[in-house]
Amino acid sequence: MSPSYIFGPINSRRFGRSLGIDLSVGVKQCNFDCLYCELTRAKTTATQTVTADYKDILKDIKIAIKKHPNIDVLTWTANGEPTLYPYLSELLSEVDKIKGDIKTLILSNGGNIYNENIQNRLMDFDIVKLSLDCVGAKCFKKLDRTHESINTDKIVRGMVAFSKRFQNSLVLETLFVKGINDTQANIADLQKAYVKIKPHRVDIGTIDRPPSYDVLPISYAELQSIAGNFHDQYITIAHSQATKDPQRYSTDELLKMLGMRAINKEDITNMFDDVTKEKFDELLGQGKIISQDVAGVVFYRVRISLK
Ligand code: SF4
Repeated sequence: MSPSYIFGPINSRRFGRSLGIDLSVGVKQCNFDCLYCELTRAKTTATQTVTADYKDILKDIKIAIKKHPNIDVLTWTANGEPTLYPYLSELLSEVDKIKGDIKTLILSNGGNIYNENIQNRLMDFDIVKLSLDCVGAKCFKKLDRTHESINTDKIVRGMVAFSKRFQNSLVLETLFVKGINDTQANIADLQKAYVKIKPHRVDIGTIDRPPSYDVLPISYAELQSIAGNFHDQYITIAHSQATKDPQRYSTDELLKMLGMRAINKEDITNMFDDVTKEKFDELLGQGKIISQDVAGVVFYRVRISLK
């Protein structure tokens, strides 16, 4: 029996109803070996050595789209790094012919984004999500354990160059691991990197599944506190123990908060009591707060330009 290249559908809070495409079924092929990886540990590789025929993957995609017509997004991933798949462009151009309104999203670790050929392969996706856990080489080596072919000094510059070229939605993801990349110095470097890269959105999170190495997550409160450093970005926070702590805010406090940082529906549920929610709706009705869809997540902010 041939392997199935499709998994799901799953409901993703950040991207909608998603069907996953696995470009490396049954074998991990990655140019990183992250301490927090939920897959098994594996030697890093710069190229795929086991490669599926893109026509077989396409066949599975056609069947899955027919079976699940109410899909928002096709999420391209791999047991490892999807940009290592050599027929990415061929497969994407075939999928573009049949997908209709469904969006294409690729989840890349961003390790080879400074390579122009890789950038070219990503240009036609509707959404590109790149990981950026670290800025310095030392942190990359320690946490993401990058393949020797990767020049970590070029990663941020590569993301800046890609962001300038890419016309669709660019999302960055940073995963924080206790005692490794949650230092004030790394957070300050990340903040500067985000400003330079200008992603549409930054998703921050921590370990929430058993990691392949012995490392620990940070708490939801720590993630919230880190998010406070990134007030010039649209931030979402993912944490399995996101706690509801509804508070009452005055109109002035609400406007000040939304002037500092755009918030999303999940933040509203977790942070505001019923009275504050009413004030929020009033401000929204008066146009003092505006909403904006950022790569599939609705954010609210006061009328200022973030990008
Ligand atoms: S980049 Fe993704 S697949 Fe590769 S080691 Fe890191 S977490 Fe695992």
